[in-house]
Amino acid sequence: AVGPYRLMGKVVEGFKRGSRDLGWPTANLDPIAFEHKLDDEQEGVYLGWAAIEEDGVLLGGKLHKAILSIGWNPFFKNEQRTVESYLCHTFEKDFYGADMRLLICATIRPQADFASMDELIKAIKEDVDFGQVALDHSPFTEMQRDNLFAGMD
Ligand code: ADP
Ligand code: MG
Repeated sequence: AVGPYRLMGKVVEGFKRGSRDLGWPTANLDPIAFEHKLDDEQEGVYLGWAAIEEDGVLLGGKLHKAILSIGWNPFFKNEQRTVESYLCHTFEKDFYGADMRLLICATIRPQADFASMDELIKAIKEDVDFGQVALDHSPFTEMQRDNLFAGMD
């Protein structure tokens, strides 16, 4: 695994399972943004930083902590690879079509296939708790100054 990864693309629609079934909405990145970039990366849960811009305006401040999954999401038997991020912020509304910049900093755990929805939800909660704390520490906190986010404020 060679990181960090710097991705830019639109927020696209997924299967709407994040918020409805799990309680964790995930902003899905347009697959064009990561085509061939993550081919060597294993499926799993990662942490990073994200910025969301709509018509050039930053939504909810400059950077958000992001807990994201790279993979096919075996629980749902997806056929296409997805990069989807839960952002640690309460947004006023959905932001489909917005521009997303995503810096993927490190892995939290490999993808796992859960026996039940409850186990999946519990694991996501642990991932988010862990990621939020980790991002407050070195080297991740310094990565907010990455060039990917240069000139945004
Ligand atoms: P989809 O399958 O279309 O990605 P989700 O249920 O995963 O649907 O919800 C994702 C959408 O919810 C995002 O595209 C975004 O517009 C919105 N959203 C609102 N709050 C958040 C958040 N904190 N993190 C990620 N997405 C959020
Ligand atoms: Mg989603």
